[in-house]
Amino acid sequence: MKKDKKNSLAFGMFKMKCPNCRKGDLFETKNPWILSKLDSMPPRCPVCNQSYFPEVGFYYGAMYISYMVSIAVEVPIFFLMLLFFGFQLVPMVVTLCTSLILFFPYIYRYSRVLWIYVTIPYGGIEK
Ligand SMILES: [Zn+2]
Repeated sequence: MKKDKKNSLAFGMFKMKCPNCRKGDLFETKNPWILSKLDSMPPRCPVCNQSYFPEVGFYYGAMYISYMVSIAVEVPIFFLMLLFFGFQLVPMVVTLCTSLILFFPYIYRYSRVLWIYVTIPYGGIEK
């Protein structure tokens, strides 16, 4: 039996698909740089009807994921700068702040994706 890559966990997370069916989109727009629609999610999956908001304040947990993802992004940048330029406070702060701003839409969305994938199992909800 051929394994369907479009239903894999990594593909579903990378493409921001529903954790239950991995077919419906989690966000209303695919482009995270449309900042007015950054957090716009449909209330339910259009394919399998899985709720994207299982409880009030569900995405508060994504803040902790966001912190961890931010650290995972910034620490390598810090050490690369340290390796190539040595410790210079102002360029380092400017680079780290700039990279955080540049990665913010992705960090925000992927934190939500990670959080909903941690809490909702694949194929866990029957139609
Ligand atoms: Zn779904």
